[in-house]
Amino acid sequence: MELTNEQRTALKGKGYITMKDGLHFSCRVVISAGKISALQAQKITEICQSYGKGYFTITHRSNVQIPWVQYEDLDNVAKSLEEAGLSIGGTGPRVRPAHNCKGPACRFHLYDTEAAAQQMNERFYKGYYDVKLPSKFRIQLSGCPNNCAKTQLGCVSLQGRRPNQVAVLIGGMSGRNTIVGKEIAGLYSIPEAMDMIETALQFYKENGLPGERFAKMVDRVGFENVEKALLGN
Ligand code: SF4
Repeated sequence: MELTNEQRTALKGKGYITMKDGLHFSCRVVISAGKISALQAQKITEICQSYGKGYFTITHRSNVQIPWVQYEDLDNVAKSLEEAGLSIGGTGPRVRPAHNCKGPACRFHLYDTEAAAQQMNERFYKGYYDVKLPSKFRIQLSGCPNNCAKTQLGCVSLQGRRPNQVAVLIGGMSGRNTIVGKEIAGLYSIPEAMDMIETALQFYKENGLPGERFAKMVDRVGFENVEKALLGN
């Protein structure tokens, strides 16, 4: 079936990414908090064998991509994933699933990055799914200053500094351009940091220009002004 560019863009926004041959799709499977059960992994394996080429890849933000799926099979893939409690997504100009380090499985963790990522995915990824933002919005969570989740490169990131106390960093990005984010003064509890993320989202929605990344907006508006907004000043 011949698809228009608009149709392909709409599919990409839902997690179905056109491959270079123009015929097949990579299906982005959201792996919340980077954690997947053995049964879910088995289901993904079966889907790859039925609709792809028998393999899947892991993205740098710990999601899964199933390549080589034909357009006609996209609904079947989505339905099969649903049976295992999984979904396609994590693309488009919206809040992306939070990216966390392995936290509770690591002896250095100062807060539970896995639980925090799950909460953030409920509140911000699912809760804001239909809210169109200027561009993607990435949250990154490191359990300690070893910083395995590269918190300087997220739109808003948390880095564990003391037990259940985090530093909040804003304005980073990576990709074609790289901007190193900066730390907001003070340390915060996880609930406080989550409220700051919500404020950052509102600020971005109101002040970001179409297509402008959060980090570029922080540069344009000024770090101090965004910091003030997040601190409620
Ligand atoms: S950032 Fe710290 S807690 Fe997280 S995986 Fe790395 S060393 Fe462990």
